[in-house]
Amino acid sequence: MAQITANTALHVTQVATTLLGGAPEWSNAYGIGATVPASGIYRCTGCGDEITSNKDDKFPPQNRHQHANQSAPVQWQLIVKTQTKA
Ligand SMILES: [Zn+2]
Repeated sequence: MAQITANTALHVTQVATTLLGGAPEWSNAYGIGATVPASGIYRCTGCGDEITSNKDDKFPPQNRHQHANQSAPVQWQLIVKTQTKA
């Protein structure tokens, strides 16, 4: 689980999301090699591992993130979105 301290908590804020419209990067999950929709921290729904990824890069390929139990798919879900100026 991503961690923060009392001091760094000052720089993290909770945002409201809507089911329709808005920012789909919060509600979608992304598979192996998909294009990263927004820079931030992503969690694999299959194993709980976390990665940081930059917008427009690719999520890890098959040979970089694997599950011992192959029935659990690799799906990356955005948990912390970074705020960048560009
Ligand atoms: Zn995983």
